[in-house]
Amino acid sequence: MHELPMVMELLSMMERKARENHLSKITEIDLRIGELSDLVDECIQLYFDTAAEGTCCEGAKLVFEKNPAILRCTKCGRQFPYARSFQCPDCGGSATLVRGTGTGFVVKQIKAL
Ligand SMILES: [Zn+2]
Repeated sequence: MHELPMVMELLSMMERKARENHLSKITEIDLRIGELSDLVDECIQLYFDTAAEGTCCEGAKLVFEKNPAILRCTKCGRQFPYARSFQCPDCGGSATLVRGTGTGFVVKQIKAL
């Protein structure tokens, strides 16, 4: 469901990268998927296989890794990994998600020809 726009974004990122770096073909993409995102590995793969046809990413292998969510307490400033609660284990204050962790997706590295 949420995976199609994500895959289209990934493909346009990859095409830009291929153009800028004069790569003819991207063979592997290592992704880090936010643990709080609704993105499902299998669905990404499914959409990717279809959407990548005819692009520089056709047949590329996707490697999935989780991007853990890190929280920061708004009261005492402590940072801790998300464990099904947004409450600080130290002071009980409420915590917020550290930007760039746990959501969306990040391309960690690619392999190309
Ligand atoms: Zn705290």
